[in-house]
Amino acid sequence: MSAVQSDIEIARAATKKPIIEIGAKLGIPAEELAPYGHDKAKVSADFIASLADRPNGKLILVTAISPTPAGEGKTTTTVGLGDGLNRIGKKAIVCVREPSLGPCFGVKGGAAGGGYAQVIPMEDINLHFTGDFHAITSAHNLLAAMIDNHIYWGNEQNIDTRRITWRRVMDMNDRALRQVVTSLGGPSNGFPRESGFDITVASEVMAILCLAEDLADLERRLGEIVIGYRVDRSPVFARDLKAHQAMTVLLKNAMQPNLVQTLENNPAFVHGGPFANIAHGCNSVIATKTALKLGDYVVTEAGFGADLGAEKFFDIKCRKAGLMPDAAVIVATVRALKMNGGIKKEDLSAENVQALVRGAANLGRHIANVRKFGVPVVVAINHFTSDTGAEIEALKDYAARHGADAIVCRHWADGSAGAAELAEKVVELAESGQAKFQPLYPDNLPLMDKIEIVASKIYHAAEVTADKGVRDQLKAWEEQGYGNLPVCMAKTQYSFSTDPNLRGAPEGHVVHVREVRLSAGAGFVVAITGEIMTMPGLPRSPSAERIRLNETGEVEGLF
Ligand code: ADP
Ligand code: MG
Repeated sequence: MSAVQSDIEIARAATKKPIIEIGAKLGIPAEELAPYGHDKAKVSADFIASLADRPNGKLILVTAISPTPAGEGKTTTTVGLGDGLNRIGKKAIVCVREPSLGPCFGVKGGAAGGGYAQVIPMEDINLHFTGDFHAITSAHNLLAAMIDNHIYWGNEQNIDTRRITWRRVMDMNDRALRQVVTSLGGPSNGFPRESGFDITVASEVMAILCLAEDLADLERRLGEIVIGYRVDRSPVFARDLKAHQAMTVLLKNAMQPNLVQTLENNPAFVHGGPFANIAHGCNSVIATKTALKLGDYVVTEAGFGADLGAEKFFDIKCRKAGLMPDAAVIVATVRALKMNGGIKKEDLSAENVQALVRGAANLGRHIANVRKFGVPVVVAINHFTSDTGAEIEALKDYAARHGADAIVCRHWADGSAGAAELAEKVVELAESGQAKFQPLYPDNLPLMDKIEIVASKIYHAAEVTADKGVRDQLKAWEEQGYGNLPVCMAKTQYSFSTDPNLRGAPEGHVVHVREVRLSAGAGFVVAITGEIMTMPGLPRSPSAERIRLNETGEVEGLF
């Protein structure tokens, strides 16, 4: 028996087509593609603008049950479903996020799908790709440098140096930089102040790039960034420092969607990668909208479980960009549901139908939640070799009792053939006209009410608590004109509650909003519940220890 191939081995063995050919399949003229090498290209802004009058294809969201630390296969299923749709004769395009270097060298090892459902070139996508994250890092740090420079040269804006909220970013997991003191070393280095670094994917510039419609909208949003407050507590904007236009220059190419291909030579846009906690966790609006103009079906993913990823996809991305999703796929695995049913990671390989059914309460909650947005649902059972027939039957039964079909998918092992049945079901749902998308709450409610609606309707919490300081801050933002923004919840992805250990479908818990942050350029107010990491650390034994170039100069250790 041959050993199971690693993701990177499978990716390397793929027969890639020149990216110009992939673009041609979508009707993108060669001169409208800016190739980065032979297998990646950016699509020109002019070409995108020329598509405005075309009709949109169907939009399919791939989301998931509450994840376990291993990941449930959302990206893998997004890619598999895209290939599955193409296999059954539909013109489908995949839209996923760009991976961050931090998790690649930390625990995740890569994020371009897995097995026989991947986007390629996987090494490039996982590493420097087309330089978008570099551009975002640079634009973010240009603003940071301009803030300190402004203060150095006299602080005409009267910025209160104790109330600067704009930090610096870097695309690496480095806990040593979480809190730093800048400008040490004497008068010529400026005025010392406390600051810190976040990972690039947590930058508001990333969220802005992913929500902006075009370059003009990008520049306007960058100008809206609140970098901190004056002594009189009024907000200081990036445009007050005249930073937004230069930032736009740095982001000019990064704003254009990246076209790549799947292992089966189907088109995929890999563009943008905002954090799913402090930001909204979806690929860029510009890539999704471009794909909707070029394909009949667009399959996209949102980070974490449906309580976070899907909620933000609907309430932030779709609301703001005017997108109308036609169907949602909830990825579930037997393993993760058993874990939600209380089974330890070591014991997951043993059959346990009882634990599965117990844990399936988590799936049931996510199904009901997604329907609250008016979007029809199908469950994709991402098949692992350890799953037993009895477990699969129990899971299908459970989903059926909750009014959803559950379809076993084997795209990880078999590519598009393994996702053809799911693709048929998705087509049926999307064409049924059942979708009546609506966000969970209207724009014109007080910010605290919006938080309470998400907590009660999606998390099944009994109560939201917040200190006076938090409530006063929300009020102040409402007075400054930010009251109509949606809220971006930052909560642990492992539970419907704020306690990561409370798996399954907990009820009646209390959600405490510890802190709120304004992302005025991105256009949301972040509500932070519990600890939230904007600069992750590396684990004891990071993937970096196993990533290397082999004798033939190929990358080893990404997976
Ligand atoms: P997510 O997007 O939900 O974080 P991914 O799609 O990135 O998850 O998958 C996480 C990891 O699990 C990847 O390394 C992938 O290869 C692996 N994986 C996904 N589906 C399967 C499967 N059916 N069997 C085995 N491994 C899988
Ligand atoms: Mg993923």
